Amino acid sequence: MNLVELIEQFGTDAQCRQTLEHLRWPKGVTCPACKSDKISRIFGRDQFDCDSCRYQFSATAGTIFHDSHLPLTKWFLATYIVAESKKGISANQLKRMLSISYKTAWYLYHRIRKAMEEANPKPLSGTVELDETYIGGKRRYVGRGSLEGKTMVLGAIERGGDVRLRVEKRKKASKKVLHATHETVNHRAEEWVRGDVHTNGIEVVWSLFKRSIVDSYHQISAKHLDAYLDEFEWRFNQRENPNLFRDTLIRMVKTPKMEMKKLIEKPA
Ligand SMILES: [Zn+2]
Repeated sequence: MNLVELIEQFGTDAQCRQTLEHLRWPKGVTCPACKSDKISRIFGRDQFDCDSCRYQFSATAGTIFHDSHLPLTKWFLATYIVAESKKGISANQLKRMLSISYKTAWYLYHRIRKAMEEANPKPLSGTVELDETYIGGKRRYVGRGSLEGKTMVLGAIERGGDVRLRVEKRKKASKKVLHATHETVNHRAEEWVRGDVHTNGIEVVWSLFKRSIVDSYHQISAKHLDAYLDEFEWRFNQRENPNLFRDTLIRMVKTPKMEMKKLIEKPA
């Protein structure tokens, strides 16, 4: 899908709403409260009425779109931009592109990311490359080999397959983890050399990752790093999916609502 098709198909809120309804209930609308399929449309409103339990709801009720004052057309544009930007974009850029406030853009971006999170990632198999990288920290330590203030990110990639990234939080154990990781990497390296000559998959991931996230990491709190990793993973693992935009929307309409206060509260 290109931009012209996007505007043609999702240029109005009615088009967007109809699409979400279909993506959420491909076999027909069911009640989120009691699962009944005896549903009536409420005339003149974008709502349904459950004939069994009388619950009234919209296509976006209880989802990540819940209670948003932003027009659905902007949600669709934002989702398209985020899903299609190979290196990701900043909330500031989203703000400018959609003529919305920074706060709205930031919250919007976080909710799209939430939908990109893999709740139950399947284990990687076959030849898996492991590596770690460090990001953030004080600028003055850059290039001096110090790990002070940096956050370690562990990465694993299945050859020709999916990548998994996560923040390594165990600070004290990090040396141990590092060591184990290197052993595995070295061990795997022997396998690669005997096999076909191939690119070092995880290096490609880090290079993409650093260009997209690390460059702006000094503005990103460690608390939200996991969310950035989720976004990166989703886009990378779906890199050959021609229906990435649609599939992202499906995730969004199946992801429960997330409130702003959850995002800004201090970690425990
Ligand atoms: Zn019901």
